[in-house]
Amino acid sequence: MDLDDFRQRLNERLTQVLVRNEQANPHLRRLLEMPADWGEREVILADRALLDGLDTEARAELAAIRTALERVEDGTYGTCAGCGAPVGDTRLHFLPFAITCLRCAQR
Ligand SMILES: [Zn+2]
Repeated sequence: MDLDDFRQRLNERLTQVLVRNEQANPHLRRLLEMPADWGEREVILADRALLDGLDTEARAELAAIRTALERVEDGTYGTCAGCGAPVGDTRLHFLPFAITCLRCAQR
């Protein structure tokens, strides 16, 4: 698994969500203007005030991306949060912020 590749894909996904929602919350623009530093973005994404004004879908997506990024950093990315099995590269390719394997997701 190429972690840098997944990290980049998560970052792109994050940028898409931010661009799509920046009208709803001016703080998002600040985040977009920042250098794409993972640690800093992650900290800001943990700020609940940032999520105010966003719709449920955007909030859920940002939370999922943040969780995936945390798992990249702590080395558990790609391991199912439910059963510990590999999530699978194919699943991660289509759903880079998936933290469970398909079986656990369907449970
Ligand atoms: Zn699982």
